[in-house]
Amino acid sequence: MNYDSIWSNFLSDIKEKAELSSLAYQTWFSETKLLKLDNGKAYIIVPMPMHKRHLANNYNDLISDELIKLTGSNYELVFLLEEEVESEVPESREDVPEVENKDIPQVNSNLKSIYSFDNFVVGNSNKFAHAAALSVAENPGKMYNPLFLYGESGLGKTHLMHAIGNYIQAHSNKRVLYVTSEQFIQDFIRTNRKDDDESNFNYVDFFKNKYRNIDVLLIDDIQFLGGATKTQSEFFHTFNNLYNDSKQIIISSDRSPNDLKVLEDRLRTRFNWGLEVNIFPPDFELRSAIIRKKIAAEKLENDIPDDVIEYIASNTGTNVRQLEGAITRLVAYSSMMGSAKIDLDLAMEALKDTISTGITEKNDVARIQKIVSEYFSISVEDIRSKKRSSNIAFPRQIAMYLCRVMTSESFPRIGIEFGGKDHSTVMHSVEKIENEIKVNKDLANIIEKLKKDIGVV
Ligand code: ADP
Ligand code: MG
Repeated sequence: MNYDSIWSNFLSDIKEKAELSSLAYQTWFSETKLLKLDNGKAYIIVPMPMHKRHLANNYNDLISDELIKLTGSNYELVFLLEEEVESEVPESREDVPEVENKDIPQVNSNLKSIYSFDNFVVGNSNKFAHAAALSVAENPGKMYNPLFLYGESGLGKTHLMHAIGNYIQAHSNKRVLYVTSEQFIQDFIRTNRKDDDESNFNYVDFFKNKYRNIDVLLIDDIQFLGGATKTQSEFFHTFNNLYNDSKQIIISSDRSPNDLKVLEDRLRTRFNWGLEVNIFPPDFELRSAIIRKKIAAEKLENDIPDDVIEYIASNTGTNVRQLEGAITRLVAYSSMMGSAKIDLDLAMEALKDTISTGITEKNDVARIQKIVSEYFSISVEDIRSKKRSSNIAFPRQIAMYLCRVMTSESFPRIGIEFGGKDHSTVMHSVEKIENEIKVNKDLANIIEKLKKDIGVV
């Protein structure tokens, strides 16, 4: 058994444990990895610093017991981040457990089953890419060849590629291979190396077998094929071979074939033979739908209210990977705080480092909040909260008005700083105060005084 399989057994066992909720499992365990078991220690890689303490304090016994069950030995647990491995993990003393067939690299599809069409959320920005991907999946080698998917990072290209591969494998006997262009380069480079590992392994045959003996080739991030001309020309031959046999080729890139200047013209021309589809950044509606789908998949749909979803959808940008990161962070934060309910305040606190409001303590918005709060004898936390009681809501409206007239912050930015309000709510508040000043002399005086205190007039 190797470490990966030990750990996947470990994870599936503890997932079933009654004392571990699915939220806790998801938050604290789902992204862990076993680096190695060595010299009485189990080195476990965790995604964030907070996992180290939380796991050690709360789950030490559970993990140790489970490891004893799986391996028969007792290990001291060492939690560490991926980037700490090099500096903190000593060279192995014990042999790595045997891996089956270790000298014959096996060709496998490299497909990740977690990426499917079912969990790909479709909206305006990606519906063409989705439709093209599905029709290729249903008719490999027949509809669009090659299919060329391109768009910025984090928009779902890799997801769609795996979805195509998984679909084809589920519906036919076709052999599918997914590789990144880096893997392709590595495999190719090995064919040129003198074989000195005594295994008599023929990498040229391996390469041919791997890349020619397939029905569907998915090659991800082709922009990294780079200027390596030998590799490019090998890819060109591989492409032609497969293409002439009506094998399906699917390529992704961060830019269109015409903008892939590092590639030779003859390759770019071939990409033009098929279908090129651009995948665009998701709009607000799609972002919200993706967030909903992700939290439903984690069975958290009842724990995360709508305003929090809107907050994430409005403030984390258009990269879906970042949206996912925000959800993970929020859930981790709420478990760490031991709070059962995730509300907007908690979300704002959890995400304050990731959401770039550009607002710091020293700037105008913070100063306005402070001065207005002091004037009305309420706390800055309250003015920044969602609380609706009138002794807080009214000063908040005044402060939003002052931010609008005295700083250059936009309505959405101001909204973020005042309880994550929608920009239309901010606009409405500003208008309301503007109108009231005209008819209410007292209010006009208060505003004048506040403006003087703020002192940016
Ligand atoms: P790219 O390859 O374009 O950089 P990925 O396919 O790796 O992007 O997507 C980044 C993350 O966002 C993945 O976890 C993926 O599952 C998720 N994702 C992207 N688009 C969608 C979508 N439309 N529906 C669901 N998840 C998505
Ligand atoms: Mg990708």
